[in-house]
Amino acid sequence: MTAADFVPDGADLDTLRAAARECRGCHLWEDATQTVFSRGGPRARVVMVGEQPGDVEDQRGEPFVGPAGVLLRRAVGDAGIDPEDIYITNAVKHFKFRRQGKRRIHQTPDREEIVACRPWLLAEFAQVAPRVVVALGATAAQALLGPSFRVTKQRGMLLPWPESAYHPEDFAQPGGSAQVMATLHPSAILRADDRETAYKGLVADLAVAAGALR
Ligand code: SF4
Repeated sequence: MTAADFVPDGADLDTLRAAARECRGCHLWEDATQTVFSRGGPRARVVMVGEQPGDVEDQRGEPFVGPAGVLLRRAVGDAGIDPEDIYITNAVKHFKFRRQGKRRIHQTPDREEIVACRPWLLAEFAQVAPRVVVALGATAAQALLGPSFRVTKQRGMLLPWPESAYHPEDFAQPGGSAQVMATLHPSAILRADDRETAYKGLVADLAVAAGALR
C-alpha cells in the first residue's frame, strides 16, 4: 500500500492536509503522534522539502518548529527570501524513531517509506507549482533526484525541474519551468563542528535559490 489510496484527486491544500491525517499508506503512522503535513500557501514560489518531522514537530503537528526550523527561518531571511514565499514540507509525513528509555531517537526513513509517501508530495507540487524546489538534506534530495545524488558534491546547483527528477514523469507540470536545488538539512548545521561556516554555506545555497526568483 502507499499514500495514493488516501490522496484525494485534484484537492486543494486544505483538503490534502485534512486527508493526510487519516493516511495509513505505510506503517509509520502506528507509532507517531500525528501526521505532520506542511506549512505555507499555494502562491509560494519556493517549495522546501525536508526529510521527516522530528520529535517536536510530531508533538506539535507542524513542520520545522523545532531548533532546525528556527535556524532555517533565520537562514531564509539572511538569504533574502520572503518567508511568505516559502512552502515547507517533508518527504515523509510521520516521525520515524526508535525508543531509548524515555527518549525517541530519529531514524532515517527507508526507500520504501519514502516511495509510499511520495503521492502527498506530488499532490503538493501540483497545487503550489513552485518556481524553485529546495531539497533539504540527503533524504529529500535522493527522494527527488535519485539515490545516486550526492548533496555534499552537488549542493547549491540549480538543476532543471522536472528533467533532473528521479521520476520526471511524476513531477512534470503543465507550463512548469521550475528549478531544483539541494542543500544541507538545517539539523546538519546544528550538528556541525564549525557551525558558523556551515550556516554561511546554507545561506549561500539559499541565496542561489533566491536569485532564481528574480
Ligand atoms: S509516512 Fe506518509 S505514507 Fe506513511 S502513513 Fe505517514 S503520511 Fe502515510
